[in-house]
Amino acid sequence: MEYDAIILGAGGAGLMCAAVAGQAGARVLVVDHAPKAGKKILISGGGRCNFTNTGTEAANFLSENPHFAKSALSRYTQWDFLGLVQAHGIAWHEKTLGQLFCDESARQIVAMLLAECEKGGVEVRLSTEIGGVRHADGLYHAAGETARALVIATGGPSIPKMGATGVAYDLARQFGLRVVTPRPALVPFTLGEDDAAFKAISGVAVPAVARVGDAAFAEAALFTHRGLSGPSMLQVSSYWSSGQAVEINVLQGAAEKLRAARARMPRARLKAALAEHLPKRLVEVLAERITLPTELGNASDAALDGVARQLEALTFHPTGTEGYAKAEVTAGGIDTAALSSKTMEARAVPGLYAIGEAVDVTGWLGGYNFQWAWSSGWAAGQAIAARRG
Ligand SMILES: Cc1cc2nc3c(=O)[nH]c(=O)nc-3n(C[C@H](O)[C@H](O)[C@H](O)COP(=O)(O)OP(=O)(O)OC[C@H]3O[C@@H](n4cnc5c(N)ncnc54)[C@H](O)[C@@H]3O)c2cc1C
Repeated sequence: MEYDAIILGAGGAGLMCAAVAGQAGARVLVVDHAPKAGKKILISGGGRCNFTNTGTEAANFLSENPHFAKSALSRYTQWDFLGLVQAHGIAWHEKTLGQLFCDESARQIVAMLLAECEKGGVEVRLSTEIGGVRHADGLYHAAGETARALVIATGGPSIPKMGATGVAYDLARQFGLRVVTPRPALVPFTLGEDDAAFKAISGVAVPAVARVGDAAFAEAALFTHRGLSGPSMLQVSSYWSSGQAVEINVLQGAAEKLRAARARMPRARLKAALAEHLPKRLVEVLAERITLPTELGNASDAALDGVARQLEALTFHPTGTEGYAKAEVTAGGIDTAALSSKTMEARAVPGLYAIGEAVDVTGWLGGYNFQWAWSSGWAAGQAIAARRG
């Protein structure tokens, strides 16, 4: 039997693509080496899957071509996916910053996608190796089967212990597509011995604004025994390159807060004023790094402003990140210049498609990466159905 498409990878992007193509009449086979479909969906969002973000737009993604994602994101939007979730009776809620989660379980999202695949007569073959891929006479051969189209939906190498691999890049190179150097993203930073005092306050979290270069995110920061984590740190990690400084504003409006404290309690020590706003363990560590006047009443405006500046730009030089073992996504990937933004088809290789995390489109933390999986999967699914003619 000849398929219209073989889709490599039964993750969010592959399953969405398969369901859309299948429901439009295409004969579709999905192949995955894992024993379960949608494994990353199952563990996402603490088991509740942050399946999209109400604010999704191309500006929430990193890519060498920041415009590439626009077409797919605008043709299959967060509202389209939410509509599907609601049609399946899955209860959901908004947490913060437009992030939508299942009330109950991420398993419902996988079940929904598999039900949509079934509706389209899609065959999903798990525990199956792709094997070598060949392309001859307009046909693709993979996993012992033949098809007129091949979709690379095998994601990136983040969390290898879950079966994630870089096979997407090998396949892309086999077909002459450039790969933008992959790197771990949405990943905690590691700190060195100079910052041992901060590693010792592992578990302390603060609302903060983290900054790397021009990228800044106002969300919680978390000190860990290895370095820095929490949403704001994960967000800026996607923009970080080795050697760059990470700045954290741990106390917004610090100058006003310190002056107000001086007026209210001139005999108090500065530490006491900071402890009104920051966790005590952090204040102790800050007191070692920042020169603090002992008594507030004795501190000049200039001295307080100096302290404020340090609190607003606490600077770290990470030794690195925790790498693919802990990265929620992989940034970089198959160069978008090689793909049509409308169909995800390789411009120079008819019938070859690449979707989801395998492509050089990387979302912020907060449901954006799944929305890219759904949108790019939908776009390719439509195109595969259309090419049947
Ligand atoms: C812990 C964690 C939590 C996350 N939480 C969220 C969240 O809440 N919201 C959000 O938007 N994003 C989240 N993400 C990111 C999100 O999971 C991914 O961006 C998304 O799953 C990418 O979808 P995909 O279909 O492109 O790839 P994947 O979901 O990675 O699917 C790829 C599939 O290909 C298969 N595969 C890989 N290599 C091979 C091979 N050699 N042979 C055969 N099959 C292969 C894999 O088994 C897998 O099933 C999270 C990621 C992690 C790791």
